[in-house]
Amino acid sequence: MGKSSKDKRDAYYRLAKEQGWRARSAFKLLQLDEEFDLFKDVTRVVDLCAAPGSWSQVLSRILIKGENFGRRAWEDKDAKLRQAFLGIHGHTVKREEAEVENEKQPELRPRKDVKIVAIDLQPMSPLQGIITLKADITHPATVPLLLRALDPSYDPSSNSQHASNPVDLVLSDGAPDVTGLHDLDIYVQSQLLFAALNLALCVLRPGGKFVAKIFRGRNVDLLYSQLSIFFEQVLVAKPRSSRASSLEAFIVCLNFQPPEGFKASLEDPMGVGDNLEKMVRSKVEQEPIVASTILQDPTSATWSAAPGKPMAKNKDGIVELSLPEDEADARKNGRWIAPFLACGDLSGFDADASYHLPKDHITLDPVQPPTAPPYKRALEMRKAAGGAYGKTSLA
Ligand code: SAM
Repeated sequence: MGKSSKDKRDAYYRLAKEQGWRARSAFKLLQLDEEFDLFKDVTRVVDLCAAPGSWSQVLSRILIKGENFGRRAWEDKDAKLRQAFLGIHGHTVKREEAEVENEKQPELRPRKDVKIVAIDLQPMSPLQGIITLKADITHPATVPLLLRALDPSYDPSSNSQHASNPVDLVLSDGAPDVTGLHDLDIYVQSQLLFAALNLALCVLRPGGKFVAKIFRGRNVDLLYSQLSIFFEQVLVAKPRSSRASSLEAFIVCLNFQPPEGFKASLEDPMGVGDNLEKMVRSKVEQEPIVASTILQDPTSATWSAAPGKPMAKNKDGIVELSLPEDEADARKNGRWIAPFLACGDLSGFDADASYHLPKDHITLDPVQPPTAPPYKRALEMRKAAGGAYGKTSLA
């Protein structure tokens, strides 16, 4: 498949190159922010599984540079790009033009004392103002590394936790190399998620937020239940830029409220042992089984927890929904279906659609080619062997 046909098939891939993002994932974070106002009062962030770095770019542009991508601002700013993309004016827009557009930002509001730490297994090209660590988030040694990056006075030999929990927001867009074996992929992904959660529990301040990629597999209701031990609100969101055909979604956990007496342990990470299960059971025993949520803007949301249930507004015009009885029963068994929201402008690009490109469309190169892709060695071997039709076989 040529580069241009990929542009045609994937609007967000093309838009990412035009706007200078290292990956199309940037739009997922922007659309999540649009829905949940993720960056409100946030200055200290940990970006897990961050390479090639488009989420870190979003963080850098919003927190360090002070750009405003808030609720739908990025869509409006890119109206010209969108029209060009759809061929409305019969011309294409080059990346330089997109950058000029970006410079027309009305006002920049850089935040003070911003600290952003990005971690990935892969090396990541540097981004100004962002501390990057090459590390495995599932490895226990990564926790002290992160604590040290956040607070240089942290002493790992003291074996204590950390003096304060300084982080407002932990993000994780972790994805293992997909094997194609569904259950295995979902299992490895869940291990990444627990590693991310454990890191988050070690560094989040009370009231902090945790956003992580999940694949909605068989036991996802158990996971929601486990997360609700630590966070006041747990929601699942599907940004419009995430393909509807994929199981990918993002768990959005708001208002970190660790149970009384809970201490994150570096030695006994969550998900290992039966800690979490015990905590879920004791929470269920202590609390009445009520799970309800409030949607400020029901038009922007799809509600999957109570299909077919009419939405009733209260006197303030806010829609209140409660889970039906069978789901309350599931909660009793330590399972829970979190509210599901579709986010991103519904009139924006559809990640699964193909779009017409103007005749003079110029295909741009990716902003940041992978620094050490897994296929690099294979390409080198193929080159050394004289190309795809060379004499030496790769096998
Ligand atoms: N959010 C990134 C962005 O916007 O550019 C894209 C992340 S990409 C979908 C998933 C990343 O997870 C890959 O870069 C991969 O190296 C990383 N990853 C997978 N397993 C990891 C692990 N155990 N520790 C750290 N990073 C990991």
